[in-house]
Amino acid sequence: MTFPGTAGGAASNGSGIRRSRDVPGLVARAREGDPRAVARLVSLVEDGDDSLPEIAAALAPYTGQAQLIGLTGSPGVGKSTLTNELVRAYRGQGLRVGVLAVDPSSPFTGGAILGDRVRMQDHAIDPGVYIRSMSSRGHLGGLSAATPQAVRVLEGAGCEVVLVETVGVGQAEVEVASLADTTLVMLAPGMGDAIQAVKAGILEVADVFVVNKADRDGADATYRDIQGMIALGERGPGEWRPQVVRAVASQATGVDDVVAAIAKHRAWLTEHDELQARRVRRAAAEVENIALGTLRAKLGSVRHGDALPALAAEVAAGRTDPYAAAAQLVAAVAPSA
Ligand code: GDP
Repeated sequence: MTFPGTAGGAASNGSGIRRSRDVPGLVARAREGDPRAVARLVSLVEDGDDSLPEIAAALAPYTGQAQLIGLTGSPGVGKSTLTNELVRAYRGQGLRVGVLAVDPSSPFTGGAILGDRVRMQDHAIDPGVYIRSMSSRGHLGGLSAATPQAVRVLEGAGCEVVLVETVGVGQAEVEVASLADTTLVMLAPGMGDAIQAVKAGILEVADVFVVNKADRDGADATYRDIQGMIALGERGPGEWRPQVVRAVASQATGVDDVVAAIAKHRAWLTEHDELQARRVRRAAAEVENIALGTLRAKLGSVRHGDALPALAAEVAAGRTDPYAAAAQLVAAVAPSA
């Protein structure tokens, strides 16, 4: 499922692109800005299609340069409203922008969150903007493995800024958010978000906090709470101190401050050679995730064969121990491991 202006509808209209796995052709068309080709590539990523290695290889020369901004927060906090405004702001700077709205909890593409994103249709007919909802329905390694590949597709399509929006402030979101150059965590008054964010370890990955709905009672208290928590955190000299910005996204108030805080963080990253370091960390996580996914798939095929039941019977009977059995299983899938 996609937004108007991307490939969802058009892809199934008999144009043939739906079933196309002509990867070089798709990548060439995506490079030319064909939104249907971009959407098709993201769908292949989402499905964990067999053509993924080929897609990644074809895209590699065009990737690694986009500014990657992660945005996370509880449902209803105002993420899509702010995303919409950030898209406007970056388009105003003449940049091409991609948005990936990912839902770690949903096994389906789009799903319920899609309805909330109607506001983003402001940009549906802008050829400089790609907006996609995504889940990890078929992707080995889940969202944390699928998201960077979808980001690569958007980068390959010429996006200079990619916004990755995740729902919630749990562990999965932390993982996805932490893949960005700059991670924004959105809070709103009265949602208990500040406490939840700390529990989920989000304080460690947040570069910028946005206290949204600053027009509501309690916004000052939320602002103070989060400032207090940041003050408690230990920070070495020269280390980034998370910024806290107030906003009323629904009135486009404070958006300039959010953009400025992101720019400030980016300048800090560059000054401290952190931008490159983050990209390398991101690539390491990506490679590891793919490798683990491959191993998991192989393990799955062993498990569904005779090996695991036979070993399990041995363990249950006390003829071998679970470590020795696991070692045999691992040896079966990765002989040199
Ligand atoms: P998301 O689920 O985090 O993407 O949140 P949405 O962007 O869909 O926003 C949820 C609701 O909050 C919508 O009805 C918005 O219009 C509203 N909203 C967003 N920002 C603000 C704000 O700053 N103040 C107020 N009062 N409402 C807002």
